[in-house]
This record gives sequence, C-alpha cells and structure tokens, in this order.
Amino acid sequence: MSTSTQASVLLIYTGGTIGMIQNPDTGALESFNFDHLLRHVPEIRQFNLDIFSYAFNPPIDSSDMSPSFWAELVGIIYSNYERYDGFVILHGTDTMAFTASALSFMLEGLMKPVILTGSQLPIGALRTDGKENLLTAIEIAAAKNPDGTPVVPEVCVFFHEKLMRGNRTTKISAENFDAFESNNYPLLAHSGIEIQYHRHFIKPYNPDIELVPHYKMDSNILIFSLFPGIQPGIVEQVLRSPELKGIIFRTFGSGNAPRFPWLTEALTEATKRGKIIVNITQCSTGSVKMRMYETGRQLLEAGIISGHDSTVEAAVTKLMYLLGQGFSADTIRAKMKESIAGEISV
Ligand code: ASP
Repeated sequence: MSTSTQASVLLIYTGGTIGMIQNPDTGALESFNFDHLLRHVPEIRQFNLDIFSYAFNPPIDSSDMSPSFWAELVGIIYSNYERYDGFVILHGTDTMAFTASALSFMLEGLMKPVILTGSQLPIGALRTDGKENLLTAIEIAAAKNPDGTPVVPEVCVFFHEKLMRGNRTTKISAENFDAFESNNYPLLAHSGIEIQYHRHFIKPYNPDIELVPHYKMDSNILIFSLFPGIQPGIVEQVLRSPELKGIIFRTFGSGNAPRFPWLTEALTEATKRGKIIVNITQCSTGSVKMRMYETGRQLLEAGIISGHDSTVEAAVTKLMYLLGQGFSADTIRAKMKESIAGEISV
C-alpha cells in the first residue's frame, strides 16, 4: 500500500503546543500563526500530495475548545468533503480526545479519514515530536487502497506511532511523548519503519453512506465522580439543578456506588424527572457491569444506564450530541447503550 499521487489533504490548524512559541517576557508558551509552523516542516513539500490548509485565526490553546469550535470544524469538513481525500486537524493535546469524540458523532456517515494530531513540544523545539506526528498523520489521511478507497474512513487520533479510534482515546500523560491511550479498543495502526494497518479493527468503507453533518450540542450536563465520604446536601443540590439534563456518573470498579439510601433516592428521583444518568467506571480499562454486585444493581433499579466501556470523553460528547438532536429521554437512554460510532463495545 502506498499514498496515491492524486491524493489531496486539507490540513486544519486549530492551535496547541505544536504551533506555539515561548513569550520572551513571561516564559509561557503562546499560540503562534500557521506560517510559523509550516516554516519548521519543509519536508511537507516532499509529499507527492496536494496539501491545502485552513487555520483558526487566532489559533487557540485547546483548553479553550468549545462546542462552537466543533461546529466550525464540522462545517469546514462538510463544505470541503468532496474536494479532499482526507483531513488532518492540528490540535492541542489537552482536549484532543474530546474533539475527536465529538466529531465522531457530529460527522454521521463519515467515509473519509479525519486524523487529529498535535505534539508535546513545539515544532520549533530541537527534540520536537510534532514533525513526526504531523508527517505521519498526513500520510495516513492520504492513504488509499489499490481500488482508491480510503484505508481509514473514520475520525482518529494519531500520536507517537499509534493510530487510534478517536472516540476511544484519552490523554494519559502531560509529559511523555506517548501521551494518548486507547484502553478499551485495539490500535488501528502502528507506525514504525512502515505503517502497519490493523484492518480488522478499522471501520469498513461503505460507498452508499452519505455524510450528514450535525452542529448542535447541548452541554447542560455534568461529570460527577464518586469518592468515599461524599455528602448528601451537595449531591442533592446538583441533581435538582433545573438546567441539568444529564450526568456522566463516574462510579467505582465495575459500576458500583455506596448503598446510602439518600443517594439511591436522589438518583431515582432525578431519573424520574427525565435526567439521563450514565454510569462510567473510574477505572481506565474495563467495562461497567451493574449486575455484578449489589452496589451496582441498586443503580440499575434507580434508572441509571450503563455506559459500558466508554471513555469519559466519548460519553460526555455523545450525551451532548444526543441532547442536541432533541430526542426524548427514553430515546437518548436507548442510544447511549448502543454503539453509534464505534465508541463502546456491546
Ligand atoms: N495546552 C496545550 C493545548 O492543549 C497543550 C498541548 O497542545 O499539548 O493546547
């Protein structure tokens, strides 16, 4: 397999460390423009590809990422979908897993590669990981099978030799080059001397499916993590908040919570009032199995639904997406339990 000479790639620069430079007064890293970034990667010209670019102005630190920027990315990809064979999004690492997850839901029916990447060191730094990440991401976005179909027709994160399904990723390190993990789903490819694709795990290409863009996300939700010693007054107050529509409930182990009557009552009452509560484990690998222990079973009875082996990032953005579509609480509960973009193993 090789990249086709006719392939064209749209490189979308949102910001992040990859394009930052150090402010000489404060010493802090600040976003810098796209030309600065490209000047440090003259190797891009050696690709036998048509590479075009689009840059956020100003570029952002990904801690400032928001659903409106996700909608902007959806719009850019949708309006350029026919023109390009693949898309590379340069993005800060801090919220890259959230953006990758959000795009996997918002770009329904995507059949082209959308590869997010970034770096831990700026592209101008001597030991930067940005060059390798960027060049390989472009190669993957352009990769085609001998019949001309894309090798990876889905939203992915490429980072430090690993190609991962985007909605399965989590940032695991603030200092290592190997900063992302796909704990509950195998790698889609590994890049060494060659890029080895693990085709069995990649979403199959289907020429009959059309891209349907979605722009609305409803973020009236909360991530709520359990801990021993949790206090009733605070939890009850949060659950009664009128704006709150859903909760990603981070529980212990295989989906367990303390058996305090006040907690079960507050959760039951909240689900009866239409709040959607999704059970996600605090463990980084494995799945919620609420029938396993009595401490999990009580949550099932309270109307809480299983988020299976979802990452927090995928559960949060999936709930925002489903709420944004205006579905009823029952439909959202049903869809949270199904895989709609390969985000959970069911
Ligand atoms: N704060 C930066 C960002 O997420 C970190 C990075 O890019 O690695 O934009």
